[in-house]
Amino acid sequence: MIRSKSSLRLPPLPTIRDLIKLYRLRALKQLSQNFLMNEKLSDNIVRAAGNIYNHHVLEVGPGPGSITRSIIKKSPSKLILVEKDPRFLPTLQLLRETCQDHLKIDIEIGDIRSYNFEIGFQDVPSCSWYGIPPPIHLIGNLPFSVSTILMINWLHAISEKRAAWKYGRASMTLTFQKEVAERIVAPCGHQQRCRLSVICQLWCDVKIQFIIPGSAFVPKPDVDVGVVTLKPLKYPLTDLPFKMVEKVLRNIFNMRQKYSIKGASRLFPEEMRNELASRMFFIADIDPQIRPTQITNEDFCKLFYAYKVISNDYPEIVDYDSRARKIRNNDNILCSV
Ligand code: SAM
Repeated sequence: MIRSKSSLRLPPLPTIRDLIKLYRLRALKQLSQNFLMNEKLSDNIVRAAGNIYNHHVLEVGPGPGSITRSIIKKSPSKLILVEKDPRFLPTLQLLRETCQDHLKIDIEIGDIRSYNFEIGFQDVPSCSWYGIPPPIHLIGNLPFSVSTILMINWLHAISEKRAAWKYGRASMTLTFQKEVAERIVAPCGHQQRCRLSVICQLWCDVKIQFIIPGSAFVPKPDVDVGVVTLKPLKYPLTDLPFKMVEKVLRNIFNMRQKYSIKGASRLFPEEMRNELASRMFFIADIDPQIRPTQITNEDFCKLFYAYKVISNDYPEIVDYDSRARKIRNNDNILCSV
């Protein structure tokens, strides 16, 4: 086996296609499984992550292991595989045995959402947030529904510098439905601009690296796939709490076709709605008639700050949720019927 400084040649292994046949790994629809069968594309995904030689890599949802093989070829120092579906254990164990002289591979069968990063990365020395990023990378080709929720959870963790980000600005390379990838990177004024765009861009430098046609997967999904890299910003655009930021964005983008003040007014109880929403835009010095998609990330930060100033004067608005109230009102109506 030849091992150069940055690449490891794997010994002959059955192809992913043969393994899928051998272990009868039919893709499960309920887990939205689509397997990448093209080695060149798996290599490209890993290349998009940048230098991973001698780094710790966590792959989310390795499945039968196509991207895993590409990661191994780049000689990380440790590879953690988190896979929900136990049917893939034998194929992943085969990879682990094949590499045991060169690479430590941890296989975790379970849901990535409950994975404890602080155990997985405990031997990585912490880096200063403001220094060079730590030798940690998160890579994954997840089902689309999971990757968006995971992304939001991870942004929350980034904002609080916990989980994988306790060690510094660990970067991510993840796949999304092409349209979602376009939303993540959509700049101010773009028709795909939405809450997800702003929330990702407040904390990360985001980039679509390339698009993979749906035909590269088995079974073929209905959509193409975007490979996105997210690198936490040294200086996030806001230092306000994630939940507060998310709440302001959710309310404003809930009425994305209307003037921004309309959605923002839902942040406040009905009796003070107009007054406080006007005050919010006045403090932020932003035109209340601007449409949500036209607001820059920086101007959103001024709105978050204005909301914070108002919530200092009216602490009860922090827990106010106009939707919850509507639901409660509906409950009352149902009860009275
Ligand atoms: N990485 C493989 C590839 O590219 O061929 C498989 C990709 S398939 C789209 C998604 C994989 O993520 C499946 O193996 C699935 O079982 C796994 N998965 C789905 N939800 C997961 C979760 N919450 N935590 C960990 N793995 C998950």
